[in-house]
Amino acid sequence: MENQYYPFYNTPLPYEYNALEPYIDEKTMHLHHDRHLQTYIDNLNQTMKQNPWLQRMSLVEVLYHLEKIPKEQSIEVRKNAGGVYNHRFFFETMSPDGNTQPMGRIKQGIDNTFGSYEKFERVFKDAALKVFGSGYAWLVTDGNGFYIITTQNQNTPLEFGWTPVIGIDVWEHAYYLKHYNERNKYIDDWFQVVDWKKAEEKCCGR
Ligand code: MN
Repeated sequence: MENQYYPFYNTPLPYEYNALEPYIDEKTMHLHHDRHLQTYIDNLNQTMKQNPWLQRMSLVEVLYHLEKIPKEQSIEVRKNAGGVYNHRFFFETMSPDGNTQPMGRIKQGIDNTFGSYEKFERVFKDAALKVFGSGYAWLVTDGNGFYIITTQNQNTPLEFGWTPVIGIDVWEHAYYLKHYNERNKYIDDWFQVVDWKKAEEKCCGR
């Protein structure tokens, strides 16, 4: 992930806005990347500008060490650094070359934990459906096992000590334009564009 330090800017998507059609529509990608993510970036920059000591820490470091940040700033940092981290992760682990299958350590972990990829997909989908309100569902690892967790709002797996493998944004803005209120269809479509190769590089690469 490039641009890890203040000042943050909106790194371009690694594919065209319409590249994930017909699963994720172009308009949603524009709004999601250019407006929603941009707002988190602007607000994070604002908070760090007002608290220059925070600028020494990277995006990931502030999220790992939220408890070291005074309450007044940590609320803003959690929300906005989390919003930047989660969205970048979400965008970067999708691709038009998705629809791959998990491989290597991830495949082994999924098979060991869930029995098969199909069973994993069912459990993951169920977790993502059950996120009440805004949040994310994740496959995470602690370096040994693989687990499915959900987070509320823009909380990240990092603050709980997890390394994300894949994650789906289930805020309504992520799917409402195309899928309306049918989150289950959005989750199915998202699985078509998950880039497991990228996931492997990010979570488990050397
Ligand atoms: Mn979002």
